[in-house]
Amino acid sequence: MTPPATPSWKLPAALAAALFAGAAVGGLAGGHVATGVALVALAEVVLLLTRIRHQARPMMTTPAAPNPLQHDRFMMRSRRLAANLRDLRNAASQLPDAVVLLDRQQRIRWFNHAAENLLGLRRPQDRGAALQQRLAGSKLADWLRGGAHEPLNDAVAPGQADSQINVSLLPFGDQEQLLLARDISHLNRLEQVRRDFVANVSHELRTPLTVIHGYLELIDPEDVPELASVLDEMRVQSKRMGQIVEDLLTLSRLETQHHISDERVPMAALLATVRKEAEALSHGRHRITLQSTAEADLLGSPKDLHSALSNLASNAVRYTPAGGSITIRWERTPDGAVYSVNDTGFGISATHLSRLTERFYRVSSSRSRDSGGTGLGLSIVKHVLNLHQAQLRIESTPGVGSTFACQFGQARLLAPGDKDEDR
Ligand code: ADP
Repeated sequence: MTPPATPSWKLPAALAAALFAGAAVGGLAGGHVATGVALVALAEVVLLLTRIRHQARPMMTTPAAPNPLQHDRFMMRSRRLAANLRDLRNAASQLPDAVVLLDRQQRIRWFNHAAENLLGLRRPQDRGAALQQRLAGSKLADWLRGGAHEPLNDAVAPGQADSQINVSLLPFGDQEQLLLARDISHLNRLEQVRRDFVANVSHELRTPLTVIHGYLELIDPEDVPELASVLDEMRVQSKRMGQIVEDLLTLSRLETQHHISDERVPMAALLATVRKEAEALSHGRHRITLQSTAEADLLGSPKDLHSALSNLASNAVRYTPAGGSITIRWERTPDGAVYSVNDTGFGISATHLSRLTERFYRVSSSRSRDSGGTGLGLSIVKHVLNLHQAQLRIESTPGVGSTFACQFGQARLLAPGDKDEDR
């Protein structure tokens, strides 16, 4: 039997590359998929080595090889391969992420120590068991049954009820699969600390700011004409700080909320209000049009939807030079209805689009400040839409204008006049 013609240097190189990539990306937050790619490489190497070893075994036991020198060399290489295989398995065993190698029927071939802790797998009895059956009753089993096309985020770890995990399933080799689970409990805890901190600071700042603002309002600039411009600036800035604090508190509330009230939101009235507010902000500098053809009301939180929809209209006013046009639309789509605001304003270059909904992300700080923005508006819009299972789509061309569109699903629509309970 001829040993597989894999040059011996290739295996340590692949091993080194896999381990290096794994170590490099493993430390990065959010590097789950990248780590997965490295682990798939690692799994490929482990499998390759296992196969080579398997093929080599009959030869290792052959009592008399035709050429003793050749036989010795082959034995030496086999031992080196076996040692490599052992090292690789040891390395994979120690990974902090749970790793499970699955065959084409999703039966468990191999798993590491973290998989015992996080997924509750036991050796040797779980080797060869169907993973879905082994995890029956958990969110993970439902996810596997559903095809596991997208990663599963924030699931309770079947083996450790107080831990949360992100899980992905990656194909490799000959229809084999690699299941990866990462413990994200500490990230969730940090996120909670961050949320609490922002909420507490904002709450603590609210009262002193109200007091300062109140006193500033009491001072008549005519009594101190030499300070009139200073007073004016102080009022503007204290109002701005107050608005930032209110927006931060709104964001904190939205972040901790998982459900919203399911109330009827009459769209005809809401759209008329949004338009009126935009006109008040524009002071006649823009042509503002409303086109409402959807004939549908929304189901959700009236206050939050008002805040989100009017935010987009006020942004259009603030980022469109005088003389521009703004069109607010509410129309049906095949899978629901879309609210959109189109403007002929400054526009945004493509490099910024994916980051616009991050807190305090601004394309131009001075333009945002001059227009009275807090840098939190689109963040609030995104959270409100998430709570209504709606998506924000942004299209923009610098110098031409922008369209911000909110796509609502059918389940969030009510025909005007329908009673909620008729749905
Ligand atoms: P801000 O309070 O700064 O307006 P937002 O979160 O509402 O904060 O918006 C983030 C950034 O997105 C803005 O600073 C601005 O640069 C850009 N932006 C938002 N809406 C528009 C628009 N209609 N046209 C051009 N730029 C916009």
